[in-house]
Amino acid sequence: MIKNRFPVLRWKMFTHTRSIILLSTVLLFACSQEEAPPRLVIMISMDHLAYHSYEHYSPIFTSGFKWLADHGISFDNAHLEHGNAATGPGHFVLGSGLHPGPAEMLGNSWYDRRQNKDIYCVEDPNAKALEIPANSVSYQQLNATTFGDWLKATSPGSKVYSVACKDRAAILMGGKNPDLAIWYNWRGAFTTTDYYTDSIPTWLTEFNSSVNMISYRDSIWTKSYPESLYASYAHADSFYGETDRYLSEEYSPVFPIGFEATWDDKKIFEEMGGRPWMDRITLDLASTIVNEANLGKDDMPDVLCVGLSTMDIIAHYYGPYSHEAMDLLLKVDQYLGEFLQGLDQQIGLENVTIVMTTDHGGLPLPEHWTGIMGEQGGRVDEAQYLATRAKAYNQLDSLYGNHDFILRKGSAYYYDYQMLDSMGVDMDRVNSIIQSHMESVDGVSRVYTKAELLHPKRDDPSAIRLSHFTHPDLSPDLYTLLERGWLFRNPFGTSHGTPYDYDSHVPLIFSRLSYTPVMVTDSVATIDIAATLGDILGVKPLNPIDGKSLIELFPGAVKRMSSAAKD
Ligand SMILES: [Zn+2]
Repeated sequence: MIKNRFPVLRWKMFTHTRSIILLSTVLLFACSQEEAPPRLVIMISMDHLAYHSYEHYSPIFTSGFKWLADHGISFDNAHLEHGNAATGPGHFVLGSGLHPGPAEMLGNSWYDRRQNKDIYCVEDPNAKALEIPANSVSYQQLNATTFGDWLKATSPGSKVYSVACKDRAAILMGGKNPDLAIWYNWRGAFTTTDYYTDSIPTWLTEFNSSVNMISYRDSIWTKSYPESLYASYAHADSFYGETDRYLSEEYSPVFPIGFEATWDDKKIFEEMGGRPWMDRITLDLASTIVNEANLGKDDMPDVLCVGLSTMDIIAHYYGPYSHEAMDLLLKVDQYLGEFLQGLDQQIGLENVTIVMTTDHGGLPLPEHWTGIMGEQGGRVDEAQYLATRAKAYNQLDSLYGNHDFILRKGSAYYYDYQMLDSMGVDMDRVNSIIQSHMESVDGVSRVYTKAELLHPKRDDPSAIRLSHFTHPDLSPDLYTLLERGWLFRNPFGTSHGTPYDYDSHVPLIFSRLSYTPVMVTDSVATIDIAATLGDILGVKPLNPIDGKSLIELFPGAVKRMSSAAKD
């Protein structure tokens, strides 16, 4: 019987186990550095995979994740260094090595002050659907390049492909000039736009037909492993705080999970994004791309980016310590194992380098965080929040007659500067009125002014991270940061988006058949991944970037562990 895995002691035990592996394999690793460059570099991003949950479940991985760790240089102190931990900025950073704020990548979507409208991070009005329905999306609007672009510029014969369930994941990892980026259109098929190609490749049409998404209508998601394993690693299947997504007359967020008989095809296609099969299909498509595009077959290295998006939806609904998230992770462990096996047959794993990471982490369900982990936190009381904001607005109204100069988007405030001028409104006074009211709400930590985020205090690590997603013109005039462990989402589910450790700390492993497991504890950032892959591919960025290559830490880590062994 495996003991409950939540006590802190487990962490130490696992770290110790890994240390032993590290020490015994130093020489082998040193030899591995002499080998030929990889023919294929694969970036795998599993959306919403916090380090805390990846590390928690690591002991029970038996397949793909285990292979990556057993052949991996593991950066166990890797963080997002931008405050807005979301899919758009997260994947943008992975591809480009740039901080998202100055590059105008301000969220999954945001209010664009210049155009006076909300925009989506990869929207491109000029991009058109081809034979398969698709939204107007591409990398076109972004002033950046990715490691795949750097490779194509240096080695035009190299190929760059990107695939994910989410369009923004595929597009932002794939970059400006890939051979193809492919994503799920949430209408039953994987697709692309005319930004990437003049016509849909036959193999993609055939792939969609063979998947036949609607055939999943009768599929029921059940658990893969014995109940005792879930009991050891996760909170109860029926746990208050989880979202009920199936047979929901009565609150019962439990397995099995199917599709309601009353749902139409459209709804089934949407819900497929929240089932483990979507990740298996995405990996099958990645294998298909390797075959059809002949990736990794010659000395010109190729790039394949793979975004596994399902965990984001599952973690939002059920939290990372649910039976659902655990089962998904264990299933993906198997799917990844099959994918790696396929690669071995297709091109030989010795020719492949893989980096596995994520776009962001996430907060456990607040009920788990406070009830099981004993941390401080909770859900912001909406009534208290709204009543407090009403008081702030009342004070502004009594001073200025109205508060029409404020455009609010969620908990962010934008000012109409012309109106401020014409009404003779003192912006500093408005800032301090909103700050003093809203910072009194339970769970609100700070309401930062844009100036505070553009010039963060050195002793405020949250503000420093937030500064990296702040743009001098486009960012809001006031930005709300909750306390650690707090969430706006009500009454169920959880989220991400803060600069705190549970959102920022992520897994990061560079794996190759010849590598032996090394743990690097230096503080590094996801912004460093693109430069590192550039070094692995032997190419330089096409524009100045913010990240730095971690290559020098690869052998350095061996030295550190070696000297630790003598101590
Ligand atoms: Zn999310």
